[in-house]
Order: sequence, then C-alpha cells, then structure tokens
Amino acid sequence: MTELLYQTDAYQRDFEATVQAVDIENHAILLDRTAFYPGGGGQPADQGHLHYPGFTLPVVRLVKKPEGIWHVLSLDVPLPPVNTALRGEIDWNRRYALMRTHTALHILCGVVFRDYGALVTGGDMEPLHGRMDFEFESLTRDLVSVIEEAVNREVTASRPVIVRILPREEAFQIPDLIRTKINLLPPGIQEIRTVEISGLDLQADGGTHVRNTADVGHIRVTDYKSKGKINKRIYIELDA
Ligand SMILES: [Zn+2]
Repeated sequence: MTELLYQTDAYQRDFEATVQAVDIENHAILLDRTAFYPGGGGQPADQGHLHYPGFTLPVVRLVKKPEGIWHVLSLDVPLPPVNTALRGEIDWNRRYALMRTHTALHILCGVVFRDYGALVTGGDMEPLHGRMDFEFESLTRDLVSVIEEAVNREVTASRPVIVRILPREEAFQIPDLIRTKINLLPPGIQEIRTVEISGLDLQADGGTHVRNTADVGHIRVTDYKSKGKINKRIYIELDA
C-alpha cells in the first residue's frame, strides 16, 4: 500500500519515494509513499513532477487502486525501473489554491446547515472556485449576500481546521458524522478521516485543507441556481 502523506500533512509539497511496481501498458509507476492527492470528494487530483538523476518525469494522472496510488507519467519520458529512488514535487500553487477552495466549501456547508438546516447533496471545485448543491427550498436571491457575510465572518473568526483519523466504531458515535451519511461508507473501511472546522463543521472527508479558516481569505458568493424546487446550487470564488 502507498503511504498517503497528504492525509496527515496537507502542507507536504515534496517527498522521497521508491518505485514499487511498473505498469508498462499504462505508462505508470506505483510508489511506496506519495504527497500527490489522487482526486476525490470533489477535489481534483494534483499535478507535478517526479525527479531522479538525469530525469524529470511529469505526472499526468493518478489512479487509486487497492494496491496504492499509480502515477501515470508523460509518454515523453521513460519509466524508471523498480526500486528507483525518486523525489516528488507537487504543483504547490495549484494545490494550495485547492486547499483554500476546499476549506471555503466546508465553511459554506457549515454556515448553511447552522443557519438554515440545509444539507449538502454534492459539490465540485477547481482552484479558487467551486459550487455546492443543497436541499435548500427557502434559498432566494436576497439570501445570497446574507450567506456571503456569514461565511466571511467565519473566515475572520480564524477557526482552526483539525484533521483526525478515527476507528470506524468511534466515528459512528459522532452525531454530526451520521448527518453527513458516513453510514453509507463501505463496511471494509476500518478508519474514517474527519475534517473539523472548530465550532462550525465536522465531516468525513479525504481531501486537503488549510490549517485555519483565516488562510482561505475573502470568499465571494457569486451566484446561485435552482436545480428544482428543493435543490439549489451555490457558487463561490476566492481571491488569487
Ligand atoms: Zn470536503
């Protein structure tokens, strides 16, 4: 199994790793550890490079499999053999923008649930902008600016963002996690990673986040769209 460095330290932008296996057909290598986020939970995969003497290997895609994370390399470069020691380097500007965006979306979830009781049904993001879908029948145009003010109060409140990895049984005792439907996770998963915005929001989540809501910076709530009577989509943007 690949050790998933991003799960415990989202701020690790480079790392040392060794090639465990090579897949010639897919032009991919399996590493013993990685800081590359493979994508999931609405957060896109990282981009970046792997280096070893004489070679710089662009990572074009990441594939999460039971045996670990496969790093698919550009066809322009050769595959390093098994046991090659590499240094990985993620595209930090892009990743840090995604961390800020992901945390901003959790602030939005927390505020909308706290103030209106509306639950999230989905979401998606790119660096510095994203959207969330809610079961939020009472959302109207006038509320958009009210929500924008409320989310920015949580940014300036400088709330710590805390990541934990809990045994399944312990996570299942936490009412806030039940609300976000962790009971739907496959029975094989023994540990549940949680992301808490202290005093505001707690979710089971695999993504990468900033350490404090202040690091998100100003959030603009740019638009909303009705996806039906109950389902509403809210769009946000961050400063560059
Ligand atoms: Zn999330």
